Amino acid sequence: MTKVVKFGGSSLASAEQFKKVKAIITAESSRRFVVPSAPGKRNSKDTKVTDMLYGCYDLAAKGKDFKDAFDKIKERYNGIISELGLDLSLDQEFEIINACFIGKAGRDYAASRGEYLNGIVLANYLGYGFIDAADVIFFDEQGHFDSKKTNKALRERLEGVENAVIPGFYGSMPNDTIKTFSRGGSDITGSIVAAAVGADLYENWTDVSGFLFADPRIINDPQTIKIITYKELRELSYMGATVLHEDAIFPVRKAGIPINIKNTNAPQDSGTFIVESTSQKPEFTITGIAGKKGFTAINIEKDMMNAELGFGRRVLEVFEKNGICFEHMPSGIDTMSIVVHQQEFAPKEQEILAGIHRNCKPDVVDIETDLALIAVVGRAMKSNRGTAGRIFSALAHARVNVKMIDQGSSELNIIIGVSESDFEKAMQAIYSIFVDTQLEN
Ligand code: ASP
Repeated sequence: MTKVVKFGGSSLASAEQFKKVKAIITAESSRRFVVPSAPGKRNSKDTKVTDMLYGCYDLAAKGKDFKDAFDKIKERYNGIISELGLDLSLDQEFEIINACFIGKAGRDYAASRGEYLNGIVLANYLGYGFIDAADVIFFDEQGHFDSKKTNKALRERLEGVENAVIPGFYGSMPNDTIKTFSRGGSDITGSIVAAAVGADLYENWTDVSGFLFADPRIINDPQTIKIITYKELRELSYMGATVLHEDAIFPVRKAGIPINIKNTNAPQDSGTFIVESTSQKPEFTITGIAGKKGFTAINIEKDMMNAELGFGRRVLEVFEKNGICFEHMPSGIDTMSIVVHQQEFAPKEQEILAGIHRNCKPDVVDIETDLALIAVVGRAMKSNRGTAGRIFSALAHARVNVKMIDQGSSELNIIIGVSESDFEKAMQAIYSIFVDTQLEN
């Protein structure tokens, strides 16, 4: 059995965290390939090393004195090294980085040094080999991840290797410069390595015990989801629930490898399994709830709309021409609504309204702003009667006016539009009807 284990920044923020990480890795010999992030925050007021590096490099790029900023970064690593009692010096590395900053090696290069140095420290602490991600993770000329070249290089490099540390977040361009993924991209590296070595499991270690049923800023102490499918995760992530970088899904999903989100500070918790499909029923009829504010609905009415060939296309064409993606499109016989992101829509508002009038000759067009959308997601909805009924009676009880309903054709989700001022109340009512009620029974 082979597991690829990725540890996030908070899992490697201090010597104390490094000790927990080592205990986790050595507890199972299957945890063979380790992908670390850069040291993260030790407390809420702390700064991530990645952010320190960006800040430091920005000074260097402007030709300003960056010594103090650079010394603070050195201190973070040297503190960890000395507290762990390692026989390791990064002085030479720091000198090279310093010279590259002066030589303006680029922001991506700067940021990548967080993972690079942390990888060296962790490899030394574990007694594992260190593999520079620049030698095995590749981007093409356009800056897109090059999966073919990467898979080949990773397989060749890791063949016959029992254990290794491969830093997350970066790789190299065809001209040998360093490029990073977007923020949080060590998740992607972990997924790529897991797919390349054909791992049985990709463990993603963080500081929460898995994916939560709902946003803890809205729901007090929500349940953890034990098992979720990739499709469900996509629905919840789209609505803003995040634990994992979105692009981290693709490589492992394609290779049929499940992901297990685990907590470095509570390794005994089983965490969340993210899988392609499962026969296991979710604990609470629905798998999770997520929502977002900041939507606008453009409601269009026209008598006999249903019989007018091409009406929908002409409406959407106006949005397309103005470069606006639509998020949802609930419709009636003589009405249709286009739900869009308010921020994107607002600057183009008048062009779009004029376009709809010109293209579609509607009877009425009105705009409803400050909407929130809530996605109630669950694979079990398909085989359970009454889910929608329960949602709407809970919302009615909580005196929430439902402005829009959209059930996805896969019966995996029900999207509800409410006024932004009702958002929190609506989330709490839905959580309560599915989770609290079931726990009480
Ligand atoms: N250190 C990088 C960041 O802060 C990448 C990562 O942690 O995944 O975004």
